Amino acid sequence: MTSTLVFQSQFDSFTEWRALLAPLLPGVHICRDDEIEDPDSVHYVLTWKPPHGFFARFPNLKLLVNLGAGVDALVERDDLPAVPITRVSDPDMGRMMASYVLFAVLRYARDIPAFERAQREHRWHYLHPRLPASVRVGVLGLGELGSYAALELARQGFDVRGWSRSPKQLDGVSCVNGMDSLDGFLGGSNILVVMLPLTEQTRGLLDAERLALLPKGACFINVSRGAVVDQQALTDALISGQIGEATLDVFDREPLPPEDPLWALDNVLITPHLASIAIPASAARQVADNILRLGRGEAVLHQVDPARGY
Ligand code: NDP
Repeated sequence: MTSTLVFQSQFDSFTEWRALLAPLLPGVHICRDDEIEDPDSVHYVLTWKPPHGFFARFPNLKLLVNLGAGVDALVERDDLPAVPITRVSDPDMGRMMASYVLFAVLRYARDIPAFERAQREHRWHYLHPRLPASVRVGVLGLGELGSYAALELARQGFDVRGWSRSPKQLDGVSCVNGMDSLDGFLGGSNILVVMLPLTEQTRGLLDAERLALLPKGACFINVSRGAVVDQQALTDALISGQIGEATLDVFDREPLPPEDPLWALDNVLITPHLASIAIPASAARQVADNILRLGRGEAVLHQVDPARGY
């Protein structure tokens, strides 16, 4: 019986993914969701935000691959099939995310926003550079992307701290875990980088009270999901100066509506949810590898736990 892999995404290139996967999966027929001839033969689905009821057509599904690292939109669905779910995980995606985080942290650590403002006023504005070791960078979330970014920041000489659910060990990063340590962690972060998945536990985690625990004037970088933060509280904190600067790639509503007050704040840098993307050239091997593992009766890698939410 033929095995079919169905590709469904409005955002990713089918042609590119097929060209990369076909040589790695010689026995598998790869098609788009509007080209399926025999739904019974569909064993694998590669998807990003499929329509509701999408999986019901495939009684013999064996694997669902989420075409990205964030699975919040997927795991909250009530129509998930009872098959392993994996996420895209590849070093190039981690590197791309780390480059965004490094850019944002370095920009603050080197006071670049102050020079940008001074330049607009034709003003020579000397600020003595700080040593990176004097800048405490807190990374919330030490998963595949968070740990990569934390290690890159440590390599730059920053005083890097990381927070996760379970205990972690990362070279050059002081790691703490669990809710009990969160308040102290926030208090010790001159620059906070949010790299947590959006789950029931993390939704609204950074509310007005927790944002008030950051040192006054702290810098805030969010590259995970907007709803991890109370966006109104963040806006208020940016206006009051409790938070000095923010780099925001994600928002509770995307696209960020034109009337949103964040657009007009001089201390905010906004990017349209592109800190990192799934990179087919490096991710295709990992997707194919999981399909081959299933064929050999082995457990898949990078599996998502829908109950945990990531
Ligand atoms: P992972 O799932 O690999 O890791 C998540 C990390 O968060 C883990 O360290 C986990 O702890 C920690 N965590 C989860 N829940 C809690 C909690 N309740 N308390 C404390 N720590 C918690 O995620 P990634 O690193 O791969 O990615 C992070 C997020 O980045 C994604 O979920 C996605 O939303 C976002 N993303 C954004 C992109 C963009 O372009 N802006 C692109 C790609 C991803 P533990 O290690 O103990 O499990």
